[in-house]
Amino acid sequence: MKAIKVTEPFHLNLVEVPDPEIKDSHDVILKILSGGICGSDIQIWNGTNSLATYPRIIGHEFGGVVVETGSDVHSVKPGDLAAVDPVLSCGSCYACRIGRPNVCVSLKVMGVHCDGGFSQYVCVPESNVHKFFKNFPAPLLSLVEPYTIGAQVNSRASISKDDCVFIMGSGPIGLTVLQTAKNLGAQVIISDLLPQRLKSARSMGADETLLASDPLFLQRLYSFSGQDGVPVVVDTVCTPASLEEAVSFASPAGKIVCLGLKNQPSAIAMSEITKKELTLVGSRLSNRRFDEVIRHFEAGDYTPDQLITHQIHYSQIQEAFELLIKHPELTLKVGLTFE
Ligand code: MN
Repeated sequence: MKAIKVTEPFHLNLVEVPDPEIKDSHDVILKILSGGICGSDIQIWNGTNSLATYPRIIGHEFGGVVVETGSDVHSVKPGDLAAVDPVLSCGSCYACRIGRPNVCVSLKVMGVHCDGGFSQYVCVPESNVHKFFKNFPAPLLSLVEPYTIGAQVNSRASISKDDCVFIMGSGPIGLTVLQTAKNLGAQVIISDLLPQRLKSARSMGADETLLASDPLFLQRLYSFSGQDGVPVVVDTVCTPASLEEAVSFASPAGKIVCLGLKNQPSAIAMSEITKKELTLVGSRLSNRRFDEVIRHFEAGDYTPDQLITHQIHYSQIQEAFELLIKHPELTLKVGLTFE
């Protein structure tokens, strides 16, 4: 079969690899139908993803149709459409024991620490396969994973009805946080550097949008949230400076969600956290939220189709990367088709 492999930084190739085989009675083989390119895939390509090892078949956002199952698999059968949770965890460390396998001490993420889903077929454990009960367009299967990130952020900040949330950044992750928060009944203001992205945010349900370069930025932010500051700030910009800003925007007793994976420190005075008694939480991948997101997809609660700005055949992966790198103003999620 064909697979998309980064052999070393800046070497991205379509390669021929052996077809996967069932090795364990709980294994499931899927024929991939769609994949989504993430910023972190680009970071594996350009060598800035500190977690990735090489050579690597990339892709952690993918879905397809089940074609073969091991003898002990009962939750899915050939013909089922499914999305794959890329989180592989040990099951015995502290985090796993308390039900948080997404931060397992020996966490492996498919497409990052081990081979991923940008290939014609994959073999994965049954517990990572999450099926759709309704027939669903193939391109949307790979969008379940980014929406699980949004679900995880909302859960980490316990976002609920009438919460006032400021999402910094309206890229694909900011938009999945947005749609999850709106579905929960929160009031949401969202920012970006790019006016085109704010337009998408508006049509995906944002109550208010804010251009990052607006000279009246703070005035507009606090007129939405109240002058005390923002009760919930989600930083999807993920730079050292954006986390510092998030802390300054938060109201006393506010919550901040951090999603970034950069190693550079932010400069945050401890007094800012203490005086306002802030709750600062990390949010990583998702804690088994695939079934919940699929239910929302099937109920029509979100509009994942609005996230896909382009669909490109997987053999054109170079062009797809180039488009994302050169044209952030035109792209949200670039989807790969595998048919
Ligand atoms: Mn991703």
